[in-house]
Amino acid sequence: MHRERVSENVFWFQSEVYAQVTAGVIVGPQWAVLIDTLALPEESLAIRDFVERELGVQVRYIINTHYHADHTWGNCFFPGATIIAHALCRQLLEERGIPSLESTRKQNPAFKQVKIVLPHFTFDQGVLTLRVGKKNLTILPTPGHSPDGISVLVDEDRVLFAGDAFMPLPYVVDGNAEDITFSIKKISRMGLENIIQGHGDIVLRGEIDAAVKENLAYLTNIRKVARTALRRRAAEDFLDENTVEACGKSRVYLGGLARELHRRNLHNLYEHEKLEEVKVKSKGKGKN
Ligand SMILES: [Zn+2]
Repeated sequence: MHRERVSENVFWFQSEVYAQVTAGVIVGPQWAVLIDTLALPEESLAIRDFVERELGVQVRYIINTHYHADHTWGNCFFPGATIIAHALCRQLLEERGIPSLESTRKQNPAFKQVKIVLPHFTFDQGVLTLRVGKKNLTILPTPGHSPDGISVLVDEDRVLFAGDAFMPLPYVVDGNAEDITFSIKKISRMGLENIIQGHGDIVLRGEIDAAVKENLAYLTNIRKVARTALRRRAAEDFLDENTVEACGKSRVYLGGLARELHRRNLHNLYEHEKLEEVKVKSKGKGKN
């Protein structure tokens, strides 16, 4: 696990095991706030160890940026903490997270000790604020990677923990390309010093404009490819021809996952376009 100090009392962690997933800690004089938990028990425990031994406090709050396993399954290693999330995160963690953990446990003994802990405190509109020491945190919705996505802004430092609304490769299979486009545009207007992506490295101030532009272009391109594929006889081949690079993304690592995530993005959008077309056609018929 990599660890870095982002600014005073703000720390960042990145997994070396799974898809460069990240987490963060903001520490006050008496307690700390953890943002996401990483994926594997040993990594969540390493964060706990750092907070308790090196910083000398305990985690009082955990903010889950969304319900996916690599961000929430470590909740159970902080039994005294109050968990904060979007209301949909609680719902999806209950409906999908619990059965998904059941089946993962059968394949991987490392997850035997994991339990799903549902968020205690949720919101579904507006923003939340949380004060930790001298820092004010603003928790705001940024959906699109999944419907329950939220980000955490450290107001004083202009540092945004964006969850998976911002990634080296936008991933929309469990979300919506339009929503994530909207969220990325919102993030681009926030005047940030750093974007802490849900996966990958920290985006520094001087890199933000280029990263935003590239992500927005990528989303435009994959939507265009999906629509064009509808008119092609060999749609699947056409999707395969349009590689990550052809859609305007280069040097995306994500622990070797980028190619597969891109392929799933295209297939998902293509299926979505097909459904839309059926809807339009059946609407047309209704009128006649
Ligand atoms: Zn993730």
